[in-house]
Order: sequence, then structure tokens, then C-alpha cells
Amino acid sequence: MATIIDGKSAAAEVVSKVKVAAEELTLASGVVPGIAVVIVGNDAASQVYVASKGRKARECGFHSAEHTLAADTSETDLLALIGKLNADPDIHGILVQLPLPAHIDPGKIIQAIAPEKDVDGFHFTNVGKLGTGELETAFVPCTPAGSMLLIQHVLGRDLSGLNAVVVGRSNIVGKPMANLLLNANATVTVAHSRTKDLPDICRRADILIAAVGRPEMIRRDWIKPGAVVIDVGINRIAEAASDKSKLVGDVAFAEAIENARAITPVPGGVGPMTIALLMANTLVSACRAANRTPPYF
Ligand code: NAP
Repeated sequence: MATIIDGKSAAAEVVSKVKVAAEELTLASGVVPGIAVVIVGNDAASQVYVASKGRKARECGFHSAEHTLAADTSETDLLALIGKLNADPDIHGILVQLPLPAHIDPGKIIQAIAPEKDVDGFHFTNVGKLGTGELETAFVPCTPAGSMLLIQHVLGRDLSGLNAVVVGRSNIVGKPMANLLLNANATVTVAHSRTKDLPDICRRADILIAAVGRPEMIRRDWIKPGAVVIDVGINRIAEAASDKSKLVGDVAFAEAIENARAITPVPGGVGPMTIALLMANTLVSACRAANRTPPYF
């Protein structure tokens, strides 16, 4: 039976390291890490995410500014707010909650964020730095960065000689995940919806990352015995014989647990790491702004 990788406790460790480092930074330089979260419109799920990011930031001792804008806010007004936040020395991380209303081009907004405050790691500068291995000065997207920490908990930092398969090629998860694994010396395959013989490819994986968005797609016999399985997927499905719903990942957990060496649950695996790494990135940004060496996560 696989070890269940406890994302909640790994995330709590990251957050407590952030708290201590934030206190030290403030004592040494007077700088209080600041994060601005911008939300446009009243999408219920986005509001929940934004509120929890604000709570976590305050728990870390950060200054947290939440900007809630009306759904009909123009792209020009949103760009003006980003410009103000870019120039605000009290703000070290800027996060624009996606999705944005249809009349706003998310690409334009993301590229307007100053790369040194882009704690989501979506700006071309940060994407390029990750792609070229410039991790010292990059911001890495939070979900793959958190997934990588969970892999390191089990396998250590050097993944030489191991085959990693990433299922999913999104800019937010799949591609940055593949780059992180390459940086750690794994041999990486990226699969997607046009991939042939996906179960066969997955069976070669010593490290299998599922970032697809299809409930329980990855079955027991897709998993190499002894593999480390990171399930990024979050899917809400109806519970059998009731009118309730539940969250499941992209991996059939009850089956996978019999083959894998270690596996993340859903919920309680990758999810809590995402917000913890957002706090870590904001702290790193504040340390860089104060010319101090950030802690290593
Ligand atoms: P996305 O942008 O929709 O990308 C999904 C990827 O899966 C695409 O590359 C797609 O291939 C591939 N795919 C779809 N169907 C497939 C199939 N049948 N076989 C193989 N590949 C297939 O999604 P995302 O943003 O990367 O998110 C993926 C999942 O992670 C979602 O469930 C999301 O909710 C979850 N997520 C969780 C967190 C967290 O904090 N835990 C954060 C972000 C996302 P094509 O490129 O060919 O279309």
C-alpha cells in the first residue's frame, strides 16, 4: 500500500517557515511583505479563493490588500490599477484572480504585472527564466512548485535516472511542472489529449503527475508498481446514491494506492501547497526588494 503524501502538513511547514522569515525580514529591514489580490466580478468560487489567500497572507504576517472590482470594470481601468500596484513599494506580490470577465484579455493583464511582483509566475519573463533554468531569480507557478516540494519529500532533490510523465500541458501546471522536473534531472515526457497509448506511457513513469481535469481517469494498471503519483486534478462529482457531491482527483485513488509507492490524496494533497507557495513567492519577492537572501523552500 502506498504512503499517502500529506499536503496539509507539508503546506503548514512551508507557511511556518514563511512566518518566521517574514518576522526576521521585518525586524532586520522594516519591510513587511505585501500582497495585492485583484478580483473582477462576483464569481463565487473566485471569491472563496481570494478570501482564503487574504486570510493566509495575514496569518503569515503580511500586509494584504484585496481589490474587488465590479464585473463591468474596463480593461483600461484594470490596467491602471495594475500600474499603481506595480509602483507601490508596499506591495511585493500581485495576483489577478482568473477567470476574468470575457471583455478583458487575461494575457494582456498578466503581461502588465511587473515580473518582479508576478508571484503567480505567469509573466513571459518568469516563464522564460524557468524554461532556461534561471530559478534563482524566477517566480515559479505555485501549483507545480508545490507539487515539486511534495516529490522531493519522497525522492529528494535530485531525480537523476527517473522517468517522469506529466499528463497535461497547460501553461499553469503541465508545462512548468515538466520544466521543474527537467531541472531536477528527471527524464520527462509530457502527454496530452492527442497522445497515443497514454496508459502505456504512464506505466513507464517512476513519477506520474496528473493535471488533466478528468475525474479518476488514471487507473490502477496505468501505474508502475512503486511509482510516486502526484494528483493535481480537482473534480467535483456526484456521490453515488445521494444528492451530495465530492471532490476527486484525476487518479482513481483507491486503485492507485495499491500500486504506487506514494500518492497525494484529493483533497489534502497538492491543493494546500498551492496557497502555501503563493505565500513563499511573496516572501521571496519582499526579500529581493530589501536586498536580503530569501530562505530556500
Ligand atoms: P487545463 O488547462 O484544462 O489543461 C488540461 C490538460 O489536460 C490539457 O493539456 C489537455 O490536453 C489534457 N487532457 C485533457 N483531456 C485529456 C485526455 N483525455 N488525455 C490526456 N490529456 C488530456 O487544466 P489545468 O489548469 O492544467 O488543470 C488541470 C487540473 O488540475 C484541473 O482539474 C484543475 O482543477 C486542477 N488544478 C488544481 C490546482 C491545485 O491547486 N491543486 C491548481 C490548478 C489546477 P490538450 O492540451 O491537448 O487540450
